[in-house]
Amino acid sequence: MIDTFRLTAEGALGLVERGEASGAELRQAYLDAIEERDGELHCFLRTAEAADGHAGGVPIALKDVISTKGVETTAGSRILSGYVPVFDATVAAHVKDAGLSLLGKTNTDEFAMGSSTENSAWGPTRNPWDPTRVPGGSGGGSAAAVTAGLTPWALGSDTGGSIKQPSALCGNVGLRPTYGSVSRYGVVAFASSLDQIGPVAKTVRDVALLYSIIAGRDPRDSTTAELPHTVELPEGDSLAGLRIGVPTELNEAEGIEPGVRAAVARAIELAEELGAGVGECSLPRSVRYGLPCYYLIAPAEASSNLARYDGVRYGPRADADGYQEMVDRTRDEGFGPEPKRRIMLGTYALSAGYYDAFYGQAQRVRTLIIREHREALEQFDLLVSPTSPTVAFPIGERAADPLAMYASDLLTIPSCLAGLPGLSIPCGLSDGLPVGLQLIGPQFGENVLFRAGHVLEQALAFDTVPDRWRT
Ligand code: GLN
Repeated sequence: MIDTFRLTAEGALGLVERGEASGAELRQAYLDAIEERDGELHCFLRTAEAADGHAGGVPIALKDVISTKGVETTAGSRILSGYVPVFDATVAAHVKDAGLSLLGKTNTDEFAMGSSTENSAWGPTRNPWDPTRVPGGSGGGSAAAVTAGLTPWALGSDTGGSIKQPSALCGNVGLRPTYGSVSRYGVVAFASSLDQIGPVAKTVRDVALLYSIIAGRDPRDSTTAELPHTVELPEGDSLAGLRIGVPTELNEAEGIEPGVRAAVARAIELAEELGAGVGECSLPRSVRYGLPCYYLIAPAEASSNLARYDGVRYGPRADADGYQEMVDRTRDEGFGPEPKRRIMLGTYALSAGYYDAFYGQAQRVRTLIIREHREALEQFDLLVSPTSPTVAFPIGERAADPLAMYASDLLTIPSCLAGLPGLSIPCGLSDGLPVGLQLIGPQFGENVLFRAGHVLEQALAFDTVPDRWRT
């Protein structure tokens, strides 16, 4: 009997290597789990047929912003319904080349815009710890699927927190890699200077393993770079010699729930007991200006990226008498409220006369945020904070208030603007719901995050299986 709640990807690879389970048996076990539990949770938008030659490996799920050859890819939007890519995104090709088998595509906020997966045109995903609550977003489908044992691991995409924040709210491990370390070729674009693909799994080692499969330069994405060092699978049980910075503003920001603060403070104490040197530091502009800066830059880039959905090239086309009316109607029917809001904000921020006051100013602020992270990371090997100010919130609670929803990413956005890697690991419970600890590293500092994350993970011994499924 395969226990998909507890089996890690590493464990699954071991079963296949030792001949104790076949890839087909593994796949069936996860498909059975999806059949059993996904009616309630809605992590998957669709499952995929086992591709020729790729049925034998360990299964994986991909967020629906990643193009998959022959498998519908909608990015959670009506405007892409029925769109079946004729090619694989580079990351999809990498996982297939590594012998992994595609289980299916996971739910996402429309065009990855959101923090709760409620903006999906196909209905929300529910949090496995408490189905009346959101799983976070935009990658709520991937994160909830890992926690619910519907896949051993998954890929998500992160623009301002969409891997880290859902991992925190679902109690598993998520990595947003260094900008430029993973190819975005074939990934539905939201904000190109921020978007990154990254892994979600139950353990730091699984995340490191999947990162090693997807990372590296891609000639088809000119923003990618060769990794300066090989990815190391983390080991060990000591943090001796590691300098951990605790940015005051990220740890004392208004809106951090007391239970979140307490769990993170305990994890920081534990890091000290394990040998790390811990000290305070400051990121004075990041919390104050991070969100406003992001909500100019990301919508500006989105308004440009989303201009391609005109009813001609992808997805459905509305009936109309002439070209312009067809484009208008297709967009009106195809886009939900959040992409429409961002297209308007972005177009405004980029318009003549306002460009310098909004977009230009945001770019200058971004440079200051990059600089202050660099300075902090000259003194420390990594920085820590809560991943999300709150635990998973009730479905509907922030849906009507875009600003409250945007505040969910207060603590994840600054390091995304700085292009830095961030790892979220579960560090405890508050009111029975998982709390995520965010570790931020220097550019291409993933190995440091993996080492520290692994040591802390062992010491914290967080049980990733929600209590209602523990036996
Ligand atoms: N919640 C943020 C937003 O709505 C971040 C989303 C993301 O990282 N894709 O833009």
